[in-house]
Amino acid sequence: MWKTRKSKDILPVLFAETNNSSSIRGSRHAAALVWKGNIVSVGHNKLKSHPAMCQFHRKGQIFLHAEVDCILRAINLGYQDVFPKCELYVVRARAKSGLLGDSEPCEGCKQFISAVKIKEVYWS
Ligand SMILES: [Zn+2]
Repeated sequence: MWKTRKSKDILPVLFAETNNSSSIRGSRHAAALVWKGNIVSVGHNKLKSHPAMCQFHRKGQIFLHAEVDCILRAINLGYQDVFPKCELYVVRARAKSGLLGDSEPCEGCKQFISAVKIKEVYWS
């Protein structure tokens, strides 16, 4: 779970973003990248595949995960240089209950997060 007090501000944004997420196995995922206490990008799961995800995927899981979607948006906005100072937050909302589920990044996302040098990752 979260390590910082900032989570109380980030969580509503993440929950709102899960509403944009494709439901995958009954769950919706969202991610937010935070730099100096500010959310610089958000992302959600998409069923559409993406080249970045294809490079870092587990067999049978080629679609765009929230973490990678969020990071790609931040790259497009020019934040890549500050990634080592950013924190990435990931949540999983269960479709039926709306409660948080385990959202530990998959191996593919972990590799991607590591490759872009984001060091602080928190998940529900
Ligand atoms: Zn993943």
